[in-house]
Amino acid sequence: MGARGTVGRAHRAAAACLYPGAWAVDATVGNGHDTLFLAREVGPLGRVDGVDSQAAALSAARRRLEAAGALDPVRLHHGGHEHLLGLLPEGARGRVRAILFNLGFLPGGDKAVITRTGTTLAALEAGAALLAPGGRIVLVAYPGHPGGAEECEAVMHWAGSRRPEGMALLELDPPDQGKAAPRLLVLESRPGT
Ligand code: SAH
Repeated sequence: MGARGTVGRAHRAAAACLYPGAWAVDATVGNGHDTLFLAREVGPLGRVDGVDSQAAALSAARRRLEAAGALDPVRLHHGGHEHLLGLLPEGARGRVRAILFNLGFLPGGDKAVITRTGTTLAALEAGAALLAPGGRIVLVAYPGHPGGAEECEAVMHWAGSRRPEGMALLELDPPDQGKAAPRLLVLESRPGT
């Protein structure tokens, strides 16, 4: 399945735990497509915190959100998602319903700036601490670009055997034969399990 199909599945997995007024996080804003999707799901009374380490991504995303009239619930943060807990307000812990990760490089941007294993795993651990019960981490990984395969393997391995306690594995795409197709991961917070 191509990137669009996988991103569509990611959106459906996130939508299943979102509602008007909910709190969502986009951990890799990029050009803002996912941020816009989240903003529409939570509506003007909800909240979306978007994080990206590249200023160019945040300005492209801001333009897209403005043009769509969907900027109201969105706060954009310039920084690394490995610092998610510091970038978001204290009150976010235990209240976020969905956190999206769309890994890799910024389409149309510098292909040398990519998400990386160490910081991606740190961000996933931080994300788990933000989730409300029933909240989800939804991630799309891209094994097709240089550095992407190693990151994808590390993330799937973390999800399979090193994810934090109380996180249930809902979906984990197996590698495809050509190894280049994007892979979806969905985890759900189920405290006490
Ligand atoms: N591959 C996707 C888009 C990924 S965009 C697609 O094809 O649609 C990935 C974004 O992650 C980029 O905008 C990049 O700037 C951002 N990024 C890279 N490292 C990051 C980090 N440590 N923290 C936050 N964002 C990061």
